[in-house]
Order: sequence, then C-alpha cells, then structure tokens
Amino acid sequence: MIQAAFYLGNRSIRLGEIQPRDPATDEVQIKVSHCGICGTDLHIFHGALDKRVSMPAVLGHEMSGTIHALGDGVAGLAVGDSVAVMPIAPCNDCPACAAGHNHICHNLNFLGIDTPGAFQSYWTVPAHTVHRIPDNLSLMHGALLEPLAVACHDVRLADVQSGDQIVVVGGGPIGILVALVAQHAGGRVIVSEINPYRVELAALMGLETVNPNETDLVDLIMSRTRGAGADIVFEVSGSQAGAAVMTELLRTRGLAVIVANFPRNPQVDLYRFFWRELRMQGVRVYESQDFADAIALAAGGALPLDRIITDVRPLGGLKSGFEDMEQGGKVMKILLEL
Ligand SMILES: [Zn+2]
Ligand SMILES: [Zn+2]
Repeated sequence: MIQAAFYLGNRSIRLGEIQPRDPATDEVQIKVSHCGICGTDLHIFHGALDKRVSMPAVLGHEMSGTIHALGDGVAGLAVGDSVAVMPIAPCNDCPACAAGHNHICHNLNFLGIDTPGAFQSYWTVPAHTVHRIPDNLSLMHGALLEPLAVACHDVRLADVQSGDQIVVVGGGPIGILVALVAQHAGGRVIVSEINPYRVELAALMGLETVNPNETDLVDLIMSRTRGAGADIVFEVSGSQAGAAVMTELLRTRGLAVIVANFPRNPQVDLYRFFWRELRMQGVRVYESQDFADAIALAAGGALPLDRIITDVRPLGGLKSGFEDMEQGGKVMKILLEL
C-alpha cells in the first residue's frame, strides 16, 4: 500500500492508503517526488468540479519524480530517470484531434482531474505523457514544468516579439510565469496585481509590477507608449476588472490573450474591439513543444524558479495549502513533497 491524499467533496481531504497500480504495456509507474497545488485543484476543493471528479479523488498534476517501473511496450525511458508528466491524454478521434489540436481534445482526459493524479507516492500514467528532466534541473524545480509549459504555450500563441509592450493582468503563479517567459522573449512586461505580497515577490523576481489600486494602469501604459497602448494583454486574473481594463489598455489591433478560466461570464467592451480592430486569442494547456520549451527554459537557469516556490510541505499539508491559497496569504506556489 502507498500513501495518498483523497478529496471527498464538501471541502474535505483525507490522508490514506491506496493500492499502487502496476503499469500496463504502454504505461510508466513514477515514484512521485514533488507535486504542486494548482488553482484548478483549489476550484475542485471548492466543489466547482464535483460533477467531473469521481470521489474519493486523488488530485495533483504539477509533478516530478523518478521512473519506478515500465510497461513491456515502453521504449526510450529507463527505471531511475527523472521525469515530469504532461498530464493530458487525448481521444485522437474527435474533430479537435483530427484538426491537429489534440491538446484541447473534445474528450480530453486531464490526469489528476478526470482520472487519478499525483497526490500519491506512486503514479501510473501513459508513457506518451512522460518527459525526461535533464540532470541539471532539480526534481523540486521539475514540479514547476507543467505551469511553466502553460506560460510557454500562451507566449507562443501570442507571438510575443522583442520590444512588445505587454501587460499581464493577475500576478499569481501562472501570471508570473507568463510574465517571466514573455520578458525572456524580449517583451517589455508590466504585471498588474492587487495582493501586496505578490507585488513585492514579483518585483524580487525582476518583474515591473504595479498595484492598480494605487497606480492608474491605463495612464501608465499610455505614457509608456505615447498614447498608443499595449501590444498584448494577458488576462490571467479571471476577474471583471481584468476583462474591463484589457480593452482599455490595448493599442489598435492589439491582442487580448485569455489565459484565465472565468467562473462567470464577464462584461467585455466589444465596441472597443470594433473601434480599435482588437483581436482576442484563447489559450488552454500546452502542446508537446511547449513542454520541451519549458524544460529547456527551466534547465537554462534564467528563470527565478526558487522564488516562485514559497512553501514545501508534506502530503498532509494539502488541506492547509488550500486554506492558505484561498485566504490570499503569503503564498505563491505550494509544493507537496511525497
Ligand atoms: Zn494546473
Ligand atoms: Zn479528441
């Protein structure tokens, strides 16, 4: 038997034991090292996805570990390899898959939401989801590869160019990673965030950060761009305020990138879209090349990954992690160490 954390519904988490699942022919069993707590896990804890998860549910998808066992049909991986998992399994049979966008498959199996995840000491996954981590990247940093791949995908689809004026609305873990990747690509990035702890932390990571409750963000961007507006706004806050300011910030034909998962439909100024010929791009998860980019970026050492990880707790810290996240306390990314 192995250790696991179970979500039971109604804000309830129980630590317990579970039988590890042996790998099938095309599967890999991983000894989990670290697994981050994601905003999506918090939504699940709040009951927002109770129709989708089957309880008791083992969550967790931002993980790193070492290969413990391999199915007979798996090539190119070995026991002992350090790995991270790109936790999506497409059906390869729907219109999205047929069109070459199997990362947003209509029947996508998101590992750790739709099927068991990595808040357990051994995790068995399809071999195609497994990415090897280079020796110079620690397993702790490896647990940031999944959210970093989100950021790489978002910046790639936004086609960030050197010198672009960029605003990232929302300075949580994904917003910070988007900002860091966009800045690394040569963008002139400003992060907008209202939590003072996160403003300070982002500044320590070398990001220009403003609190829109203290600084008029639109005035600031207009003065920086001689009244033109930003080239790209990444909306990562999922808030009505973010959806409203996004259209005010953008230049003629500027691009609004919708990263956040909006719990309620926001009001968006479509007149402004018409008037300035604005564009909008939704972005969701990642493709294999984004995972490869994330690994190269993280291993390259240019990103302040240590500062993003504000807490490392044992598996039993899952519930307190959720509580600290929902209170908007002094946390950025919390990792559980298995
Ligand atoms: Zn996530
Ligand atoms: Zn599909």
